[in-house]
Amino acid sequence: MRIRTTRCAEKGHAEIVATIAGLPATSVEPVLVLLRAMEMAVLGGSWLEPRREFPLGIRLVRLVARDDEMLGIEEQTEPGQWAEQVDRALAETLEQISACRRVGLPMSEDRVYEFQVATVQPCALESEVLVMERESDVENAAHSGWRVLCGTQHHHEEESFVNLSDVIAAWPAAKQFLMLPRGADVIFQPPSAPGMPFFAEFSYQGQALNSGDLIQFPEPDEIPWVRGALLQVDAGQWQTGAGRLVGLPDVVAKVSDPVAAEAAGHWIGWVLDDIQQRISQDGFRYTAGQTIHCGARTLRVIERFDGTIGLEERIAGGSWSEQVDNTLREQWQQRQILKSLGAPEEWLQFPADDQTAMFSECVTETSPALRWTRLPQVDDAQFSGWRLTCPQDHDHGAERVCALWGLTELFPFLIPFLALPPLISVTIDIPDGDAAARFDIQMHGVEFLPEQGSYLDGLNRTAIQR
Ligand SMILES: [Zn+2]
Ligand SMILES: [Zn+2]
Repeated sequence: MRIRTTRCAEKGHAEIVATIAGLPATSVEPVLVLLRAMEMAVLGGSWLEPRREFPLGIRLVRLVARDDEMLGIEEQTEPGQWAEQVDRALAETLEQISACRRVGLPMSEDRVYEFQVATVQPCALESEVLVMERESDVENAAHSGWRVLCGTQHHHEEESFVNLSDVIAAWPAAKQFLMLPRGADVIFQPPSAPGMPFFAEFSYQGQALNSGDLIQFPEPDEIPWVRGALLQVDAGQWQTGAGRLVGLPDVVAKVSDPVAAEAAGHWIGWVLDDIQQRISQDGFRYTAGQTIHCGARTLRVIERFDGTIGLEERIAGGSWSEQVDNTLREQWQQRQILKSLGAPEEWLQFPADDQTAMFSECVTETSPALRWTRLPQVDDAQFSGWRLTCPQDHDHGAERVCALWGLTELFPFLIPFLALPPLISVTIDIPDGDAAARFDIQMHGVEFLPEQGSYLDGLNRTAIQR
């Protein structure tokens, strides 16, 4: 994933691009915040040179000149080794945020940096149990407040000051706890190898947290959903098998288009896996008249001639047909958009097509440019979060509310973007004739650059027909 500032050029300054070489975990928020801070500095009159350092979480990253006239951001991947990426600093920051959330404590208000020191009992290196205490009283800015103590009952060696980066190198598991607030204590057995599961016990201001129960790190994956095999019962027709085993009706999904049906076996699980799960685990009975959500689509449950349950989707003109062709195709497109950005599937946040969307008065069917923005979830559960305006900076006029499916019927080119998470905005340029459209995806004013050759890259080379 590559994300970059958009406004540094206003000051004749290079834009700054951050590269996440692997798949980012749950969020890139800390990187967006850093890019925004850099941009604000530039807009405020600062000139940022290569090698200038900035904190990202507890780490220092630094600017580097690139050969495309942008500035990149590099981090240390090994002692003395720098690479143009922010993966490690981002992953660690997300781990620290996650640890605070799981322990139930707020993030430390004062920052912790790798160049600060900790007070360490050297014999802790040999100990099976480590005790980490974050002292409440601030001694000095060069001290992180952390004490790393030996959990063995013996006469301890004398404490000394050690750089936090060396503490992390000695006990990699410790780094996810470093943003716990002052007053927090952790006791744990460091795992024998990085990534191995281990348990930790937490207290705050002397009080045991979580009733003294141990918390496992890394967080165990959710129990994988038990998913039985789906049966292909005909060309373009798949069925759950769990119903027959538990005495409930099975559900059939049909793909009508013969060409799509060839490949649909790869994706049919998007429709039927959850259904199979509910039948086998919850004993749920699907009956005609129910509706279910699959991706951003609403499907209607019908009874079929042979006693099995079928699924209908909305087709052009507002009628319904027993098929899931559009449901699969659109979900494929929505997943491709995330892939184009280098974002993981965890980012998918499907709205429901029967939720509402807003559009402003200045939007018409022939608008040459549009902005499609996902607002953070508010109290209104009926609202999908999506809002369509023009990209101009003006009063967009009165807002209207309509069903999401109705709006995307008028503007079908919005569909691939529906599952993007809140705070994303997509600015769409729609030139006349055969000129290619342009979809520009931003969050907090920072732009996501599509991967070359990706689906989104392809959309940016194709004209929108209307
Ligand atoms: Zn000791
Ligand atoms: Zn407007």
